[in-house]
Amino acid sequence: MRKYGIEIAIGLVPIIIAFLIFIGQNVVPMLMLGVIGFAVVYAARGRGKLTAMTGQKQRTDVKSTPFTFEQIGGQERAKQELVEALDFLVHQDKIAKLGIRPLKGILLAGPPGTGKTLLAKAAAQYTDSIYLAASGSEFVEMYVGVGAGRVRDLFKEARTKANKAKKSSAVIFIDEIEVIGGKRDGGQQREYDQTLNQLLTEMDGIHANESPRILLIAATNRKEMLDSALLRPGRFDRHIGVELPDKKGRLHILNIHANNKPIEDGVDLDRIARESFGFSGAQLESVMNEAAIYAMRESREQIAENHLSMAIDKVMMGEKTDREATKEERERIALHELGHAIMAELVRPGSVSQVALSPRGQALGYVRHNPQQDQYLYTKDFLNGQIMIALGGAAAEEMFYGDRSTGSRGDFEQAMNIVKTLVESGLTDLGIIDASMMTKDVWALTNRTILDELMLQTKGMLESRRDVFTKSLETLLREETLSGDEFRTLFATNSAA
Ligand code: ATP
Repeated sequence: MRKYGIEIAIGLVPIIIAFLIFIGQNVVPMLMLGVIGFAVVYAARGRGKLTAMTGQKQRTDVKSTPFTFEQIGGQERAKQELVEALDFLVHQDKIAKLGIRPLKGILLAGPPGTGKTLLAKAAAQYTDSIYLAASGSEFVEMYVGVGAGRVRDLFKEARTKANKAKKSSAVIFIDEIEVIGGKRDGGQQREYDQTLNQLLTEMDGIHANESPRILLIAATNRKEMLDSALLRPGRFDRHIGVELPDKKGRLHILNIHANNKPIEDGVDLDRIARESFGFSGAQLESVMNEAAIYAMRESREQIAENHLSMAIDKVMMGEKTDREATKEERERIALHELGHAIMAELVRPGSVSQVALSPRGQALGYVRHNPQQDQYLYTKDFLNGQIMIALGGAAAEEMFYGDRSTGSRGDFEQAMNIVKTLVESGLTDLGIIDASMMTKDVWALTNRTILDELMLQTKGMLESRRDVFTKSLETLLREETLSGDEFRTLFATNSAA
């Protein structure tokens, strides 16, 4: 009977209207009210359906994308910690016997593109669970209560899907958790509060002996922003750091993404791994992809080492642009870049990997450096050297033109960031200091003192190699790029002369 309720109601409406007209009633206001009411109800139901549908579309079922830990490069420690945590879910009986409370949430924290989503997918595969993914921003709506409703629906959907697939557990992955789980600021953002509260309520509602068991995995790039209520024991109490890969990890990731691509014999992926210091997994995947595109552009069947080098440049600095510089500009850019390169070779011999005069992204020319090995701790000397390499461009312009150009803006920003690191690490004459207590004036004075002193040293060192500029300039203007070895030959010949 309930099933046909709507049809019966729709059928009755015209009969009632006809009867009212027959007895002489004015039906216009009633009709208008009816139409408005119908529109409101229809829109609300339609919207609900729409969000549910789009939500479902975005959520991928693990069955269609099986993903294992073997397909994730590097991240050995993160993988190991995650597997240990997941064993709680896999060996539920043992855990229950010992009275250990269930693991409800795992937080993956680390820079973008390091494989957090991949780890969550692999976790679902490892635990033979249903996998549902959502992003923090999906829950944010202008209307209070909508986000909370979506959190409820997500948990409901996970349970239904797991039951349907006859799985005993479900993994819900929420990316960008900081969007809904940010520190609460006392009631201005009611919508965010309600969404977060709903998430906490759902987490509190997870019990050891329920079936299917829900495991929440969240990812963030900004762990320090998260509300402490989320991080307390019993909620996201497993924190796993997912860091940028070291050289071994980078090589592993490159090999994984080289698997489905034809690579020329003799290509030294180890060198590519060395040159891509600081790259995330996503950037390394992009290097492989861009290299394949370069090979295709040249109608080559296999990816060569120079395609990979070009791809590193592209990922690091953007695509080559068509900006045409004038002859005078080209010369100034060339001298500027040589200033960086000569300083780099003086401060860290053997570190220049390429000097280029071709515009890329925002840069008009660039020097690519080749870190000898991964480094995570820096001394004052090392950082001073980095500042001098950054100042080398402006110093060279001053040497040859007596003035500087806007081309040094980025270099100065870089130099000032290093000064900030020096101050915050207690490596300046200010001693060990809480940088947040420094006034703007003290900052300005510190910056000026350090940078002026290093600029002076830089100019002195470059002046003693003036001959390297003149000889290399010609070749650089002609060839547009100098490899590290070509540059070093010019550097050595000239300095010896
Ligand atoms: P975000 O914080 O921006 O959401 P994320 O850490 O979740 O990023 P993923 O989405 O997991 O990063 O990775 C993006 C892509 O980068 C993957 O699809 C994969 O191609 C590649 N990738 C990242 N890390 C790795 C890795 N460790 N091994 C293999 N591929 C990786």
